[in-house]
Amino acid sequence: AKEQGKSRYVRYTAELDARTVEHARLGAELQHALVSGELFLLYQPVVVLPEGALSSVEALVRWRHPERGLVSPAEFIPVAERNGMIVQIGAWVLREACRQLAEWRRRYGAAGPVRMGVNVSPRQLREPSFVQAVTDVLRETGLRPEDLLLEITETAVFDGGPALETVRALHALGVKLALDDFGTGHSSLGLLRTCPVDVLKVDKLFVDGVTGTVENSVIATSLVQIAHALQLRAVAEGVETEAQARRLYQLGYRLAQGFHFAPPLPEEEVGRLLAVRAAG
Ligand code: C2E
Ligand code: CA
Ligand code: CA
Ligand code: CA
Repeated sequence: AKEQGKSRYVRYTAELDARTVEHARLGAELQHALVSGELFLLYQPVVVLPEGALSSVEALVRWRHPERGLVSPAEFIPVAERNGMIVQIGAWVLREACRQLAEWRRRYGAAGPVRMGVNVSPRQLREPSFVQAVTDVLRETGLRPEDLLLEITETAVFDGGPALETVRALHALGVKLALDDFGTGHSSLGLLRTCPVDVLKVDKLFVDGVTGTVENSVIATSLVQIAHALQLRAVAEGVETEAQARRLYQLGYRLAQGFHFAPPLPEEEVGRLLAVRAAG
């Protein structure tokens, strides 16, 4: 049994080593990716229930790697968090997303999205220069603070500290804030008292349950009630079926996002949607 334990340990560390090497390689390649234009953004609509009209969009980063093909952010964002590249990548995403919203506004006027959602990683929030970076991008692109929705996670702010200070400064600036993956983190409910947010993005985990038993849907039901009681907006994430959308509407959700409505789309496809809307 001892031998078996040992070999399992060896195999485990070997796997860990392989993963570390892989991460180091990805990290190095990421430096290159940013400067050589391998990163790009997709935009996923957030829609109004029940009719499904576009409200806002969320920018989601993609990496078109010359050999690996499309690399998922679930794979490279954690690597970038660890090696610090997320600060540069995040700054690029913010600028590019704001530039895009400003362009849609110029072309399509009021038919454009009401705001742009941008994911912000915990590491970015701990950067002392983050608030200034946001201010600079807004000025450069001519957007108003309320045109921008920064999506942060509970883990980034649950222990207070500089990240929470940053969030308060952003709020004071007039930028909108969302708690992403709400309900999956450390201190969800307590955080709502200390952290000034405008939107709760209710995680897919809870949305999946809404067409099941009362027990399965109880969290999604409670979260929308809490959001509205606190005068926050709730967005149901990861809606994949018509039945879920209908049920979410009955439960009180008025905003939703998910493959049922639209996957993350290239800029041109969002442009086509907006053109139709601007014409109608
Ligand atoms: P997230 O912010 O929670 O984004 C939602 C993810 O769910 C996206 O995955 C989206 O494509 C996916 N999704 C949307 N609707 C559905 C659905 O109906 N069903 C299912 N199964 N999935 C759906 P994506 O684009 O792969 O991004 C994964 C995560 O990577 C994001 O989760 C976010 O945490 C992170 N991420 C993406 N872009 C950025 C970025 O620019 N900066 C930072 N810091 N993180 C990012
Ligand atoms: Ca998000
Ligand atoms: Ca989310
Ligand atoms: Ca998520």
